[in-house]
Amino acid sequence: MSQVHALVPAAGLGERLGGDRPKQYLDIAGRSVLQYAVDALGNHPAIARITVLVAPGDNHFESLDFTSGATVDFVAGGATRAESVMNGLNHVDSDCEWTLVHDAARPCLPAECLDRLLETGLAHEVGAILAMPVRDTLKREGATGQIGATVNRDGLWVAQTPQLFRAKALASALSGQLAAGRQPTDEAAAMEAVGLHAALVMGSAINFKITWPEDLALADAWLSGRGKIGS
Ligand code: C5P
Repeated sequence: MSQVHALVPAAGLGERLGGDRPKQYLDIAGRSVLQYAVDALGNHPAIARITVLVAPGDNHFESLDFTSGATVDFVAGGATRAESVMNGLNHVDSDCEWTLVHDAARPCLPAECLDRLLETGLAHEVGAILAMPVRDTLKREGATGQIGATVNRDGLWVAQTPQLFRAKALASALSGQLAAGRQPTDEAAAMEAVGLHAALVMGSAINFKITWPEDLALADAWLSGRGKIGS
């Protein structure tokens, strides 16, 4: 299998969550959110190296240990997620044709989702992302907070990470977007802007991004109970 260099954007401040530190450093059963996210990647044999993008001046990461076999290093991120990923792309190992981007704030990535993503993406001409079909009815907000309209959910998916692409193609697409003053909120959007459409691979509801206070309790329940239910 091709060797993949993973990038983990972890330079956000997590303002929606509150708390005394960025959400990627919050504790779940003795380990930080970031450690779970990195180890979920590093346990896969295709992932040789992991670069974590951290906020300039952030030194929380210095005390972290990682249990997986992959080499982990740290590089300064940028003011937005897209800029953080771009900084990471400038450090991708020349031996790795492929790169995979995974949010630091998704600590519960199931191993079988990562397997599926790599199997499909590495055989695809563009790459692949994990995503889930929209399961609820969607409402667009009206001008004063009431319902404006119902949005047809047919064919709509919610994008997750990891997202897998050829490193050079992603660097070219993302730098083009940034140069044009755009801030794509995921890597796939940058690729779509240059006509490159990745495969959609079924993700998992448990691969949610920690965003709201109750998400931390959910992740804790899942990760603490993981051994007991065999995931
Ligand atoms: O804020 P949001 O939840 O969309 O962030 C997604 C991921 O991007 C998080 O892991 C966060 O740390 C990261 N990020 C970053 N650089 C920024 C903003 C967000 O690496 N400037």
